[in-house]
Amino acid sequence: TTRIVLASRPSGEPRADNFRLEQAPLATPGPGQLLIRNRYLSLDPYMRGRMDAGRSYAAPVAIDDVMEGRTVAEVLESQHPDYAAGELVLASGGWQTHAVIDARAVIRKLHDDGLPLSTSLGVYGMPGFTAYAGLHEIGKPQAGETLVVAAASGPVGATVGQIARMQGARTVGIAGGEAKRQYLESIGFDVALDHRAEDFAAQLRAAVPQGIDVYFENVGGKVFDAVVPLLNDFARIPVCGTIANYNSRGEILPGPDRLPGFVSQILRQRLTLRGFIQRDFIHLFPQFLTDMGAWLKDGRIQYREDIVEGLEQAPEAFFGLLKGRNFGKLVVKLD
Ligand code: NDP
Repeated sequence: TTRIVLASRPSGEPRADNFRLEQAPLATPGPGQLLIRNRYLSLDPYMRGRMDAGRSYAAPVAIDDVMEGRTVAEVLESQHPDYAAGELVLASGGWQTHAVIDARAVIRKLHDDGLPLSTSLGVYGMPGFTAYAGLHEIGKPQAGETLVVAAASGPVGATVGQIARMQGARTVGIAGGEAKRQYLESIGFDVALDHRAEDFAAQLRAAVPQGIDVYFENVGGKVFDAVVPLLNDFARIPVCGTIANYNSRGEILPGPDRLPGFVSQILRQRLTLRGFIQRDFIHLFPQFLTDMGAWLKDGRIQYREDIVEGLEQAPEAFFGLLKGRNFGKLVVKLD
């Protein structure tokens, strides 16, 4: 197999020398195992966290281990009765061309359902489900309410905006740059803003004359700062990601301490903030597949993918993901 391993842990921004591309021999699959060929590899923001040592909701990738990642893969050889050569699966195949995995570790089988295979890594997979579950369980947008989401051209944010709009909310999407901003308008956000604009905070204030009822938190940083004064009483904040902080490990940075004031605001305004990891709500996954499958087929949910070719491109594409150089769900197509 050709694979990319974690060579060293980054301090701050990850760099090319944190990864190593190498060839490695593959074991033959034993009882209960599968030999798979990865066709598509998903690159996701959470992978930055797996590069750091220390406590999080999942264990770090060990030095010299293959970088973790979900893949769409073809079974080449099966030593498990439920799988046959030629079948397609969604698996944790990692940043590599081939892998031997336990059949139990397969996430699900993929069947020809008329959707591109790569969507099972994006809008019709983990990120789309994150949007669906975070809204269903925490955000709960109501007709006439205002919802704000950033990273809104990506698979989580774009899906959040479109589902909330279907449910009757007024939606404000935030993204970096004019091209992404226009894309948000084209997929139905009521207002689309560029967070790089100098007067972004003022633009956001003008965009929400009735205040904000749901802020789906994907980014943190200055978007969060601009949102906080605009929150309505009883606003809900599903805390899904804080990508602006991923290179600082979420440390609380020096500066005036605004935390006590914010905690008072939570009380005064009876805010609900709840952090979640999508698998906390995995009981909703079958319903998600049914609903999202229908929405994708009838065009009610649109999506965009950013497909990069070749495993060797994965590190550079991943660095771009953390900086907004991707435009849509980032996927690596493996030869
Ligand atoms: P995206 O494809 O949206 O990519 C990340 C985007 O974040 C970039 O394209 C960039 O878009 C934006 N971004 C990066 N830095 C900043 C910044 N400083 N300020 C504002 N925006 C920034 O990724 P996903 O849709 O896959 O993920 C979105 C969020 O959801 C992430 O925080 C991720 O960690 C989280 N997530 C959480 C899950 C959970 O279970 N809790 C599961 C899946 C994802 P732009 O150019 O618009 O700035």
